[in-house]
Amino acid sequence: MSAQLIDGKKVSSEIRESLKKDIGGLKAKGIDPCLSVVLVGENPASKKYVASKEKTCDELGIKSVPHKLPETTTQEELMSLVDTLNNDRKVHGILIQLPLPKGLDEKAVMNRIAPEKDVDGFGPQSLGRLVLDEAGFLPCTPHGAMKMLEAYGIDPSGKHAVVLGRSVIVGKPLALLLLRKNATVTICHSRTADLKAECLRADILCVAIGKAKFVKGDWIKEGAAVIDIGINVTPEGKIVGDVDFDAARERAGFITPVPGGAGPMTIAMLMYNTVQAAKAAAE
Ligand code: NDP
Repeated sequence: MSAQLIDGKKVSSEIRESLKKDIGGLKAKGIDPCLSVVLVGENPASKKYVASKEKTCDELGIKSVPHKLPETTTQEELMSLVDTLNNDRKVHGILIQLPLPKGLDEKAVMNRIAPEKDVDGFGPQSLGRLVLDEAGFLPCTPHGAMKMLEAYGIDPSGKHAVVLGRSVIVGKPLALLLLRKNATVTICHSRTADLKAECLRADILCVAIGKAKFVKGDWIKEGAAVIDIGINVTPEGKIVGDVDFDAARERAGFITPVPGGAGPMTIAMLMYNTVQAAKAAAE
């Protein structure tokens, strides 16, 4: 039987629609939600991501202020821009598009962003709040994955969730969010001994490793929900996920497509965080 598609485009458009109402309410109070987007260098993928974030801001009525800096930007220049944006009362969210060019210290830059403007949720205060189960900005991709599960009535409670990948921006926070929803969570990575065996135990399988079609169809437990976060470009220029979609679809109960799953959700949750930041600033 073929799995039900988890339509990230549809879920994200519902979230964007509900944000439009919030944004209208803020504007009526004289608050203009504003996201500053910092892009350093010429990475083509980063340029594309930034363009689609700016486009979504425009569609929703969020003001996006671009800061496009040359590859030669120094650490001091970047830190000083972050300081300026931190101190600008009109800026509610700051997004530094990663990866930064070689030679720049990403961690130092992310740590410099004021916690109340950390709409990517990668800073130490946001991540600390996540661990402590306190309210704060959630990293957008894991938050989007949770929203997709919720939209399709997939309750993690009591289920075995397996997360492939332990990055700070996807795997680790996603594992914590699944734990928060009472799943029993296994985190796998490049040193995991038997990935196939771990995946086969997953009622909910979330994959974020950055390897095209790495997870095979026979790694999927019958009826499992599969959230594929990977974005990979094949030699033919096609975008595929980390899961072998066609084969996995035959065994899974639910599956996200790539593209059209985690990608649009990530942008929607960035907009959500920006609106939350603007609301908090208004208070
Ligand atoms: P990272 O490269 O930071 O992390 C990859 C993780 O996968 C690491 O934990 C690594 O393990 C693990 N891994 C790598 N190879 C293997 C392997 N062969 N077996 C088991 N584990 C492995 O990647 P990100 O988390 O930043 O991104 C992951 C994917 O998600 C990428 O394709 C990226 O493009 C995509 N992505 C998509 C987004 C979206 O909006 N849809 C947003 C962010 C990312 P170890 O720690 O041991 O090295």
